[in-house]
Amino acid sequence: MPNGSVSGQSALSLFGMVSGTGGTTTHLLPNTGIYITMSDIKDAALVAAQAAIDETVIRYGLDTLTLGFSIQRFMFHKIFMRMLRNNISATTFNLTGAVDEPDADIFNYISILDIDNIYMLALSVMHPSGMEYSRLCVNALQTNAESNGLKCNNIISVLMNPNNMVVKHIDRILKLGKDDDEKNFVLKMLSTRQKNAVNIDDVKRYQSIIKQKENRVQLPVSDENKELYDMYAVIDIPSINKYIAAGDYALAALTDAVDALFTHDSEPVTLTVKSNRIKNVADTAVMSRYLPYIQKIVIQSLSDDTVTTIEDIDSIWQVLQQQYGDKSLASEFTIKVDKVLQQSSLTDIGIRPYVCPACNKLNDAPDGENETEIKLIPLDALNLFLEACARRIA
Ligand SMILES: [Zn+2]
Repeated sequence: MPNGSVSGQSALSLFGMVSGTGGTTTHLLPNTGIYITMSDIKDAALVAAQAAIDETVIRYGLDTLTLGFSIQRFMFHKIFMRMLRNNISATTFNLTGAVDEPDADIFNYISILDIDNIYMLALSVMHPSGMEYSRLCVNALQTNAESNGLKCNNIISVLMNPNNMVVKHIDRILKLGKDDDEKNFVLKMLSTRQKNAVNIDDVKRYQSIIKQKENRVQLPVSDENKELYDMYAVIDIPSINKYIAAGDYALAALTDAVDALFTHDSEPVTLTVKSNRIKNVADTAVMSRYLPYIQKIVIQSLSDDTVTTIEDIDSIWQVLQQQYGDKSLASEFTIKVDKVLQQSSLTDIGIRPYVCPACNKLNDAPDGENETEIKLIPLDALNLFLEACARRIA
């Protein structure tokens, strides 16, 4: 407890903790190297966030049920992060002295790979005695052909601590680092829980040590050019703010594309028509999901070793749209990028495989990269948070 006077969020947190009226929870963000403490989220903030979500859904003709839609994820993350930033009441990260950061925004440093951890932390703050979680069993009733595809459809409903749905791969993190010096530094970052104890240089160093070394994704080169050129994308993990900025860029670009579709309409079109056209444009823009992660595209001449890079967001966007607008062409690329992202993440969100009490069959998890690690049925943290918000203010 601080010796002296507290004010603002710290005062609320301390009062809440002592009185038992609202708690705080502290979590490690393993992809960033800091701990953050979150205070309880007020209903008014949730109502405001929900209103912003509803407005977004209506304005762009979106659907909250199909979160696969990339642009939607960007927008929902933006709304929720703006809200949750106000609930970060303490952190091990000392942002003062950041000469290049007049606003000292912590989301300029928190890795996008930790965004799910922030949602789970928020969920644990919102549900101190456990969150109700329901899941449908989709096991086939019989394994023979007569089952006609009938599914079990049993719904399990359990009270879960959101913290237990997060697996932090600490063992894997501790193996990172090329020498003892780096390994000790990583250990120090993971064990520092004192407020304001780590600075910007510490966070940057930690992030460079844990960075995935295999971050190149090969791009297709035509047969006649195979001997002449090598071409690849360099994948980089952005901060939450950089990720949201790329989302804003993609939304603006898609909106422009949609506006262009309406330029030749002689009469005003209905919202439904507009929504459908936006969806069509967005469907072809499957690559927008990957825009934040592409640091650059590198074209290397094999004959004279010259290297040309494409680094500005406009050009990368154009290239992605033109080359990968076609879904079948895109899939090879997206599988490779997804693999880099998956290998980069030092946490997973999900539940353990379980035997369904109705059909007595295992609800299994997909095999992970690493056999020694815990198997998890993956869960979408944004979706869980969206549902929890809707339930709480219903
Ligand atoms: Zn079942």
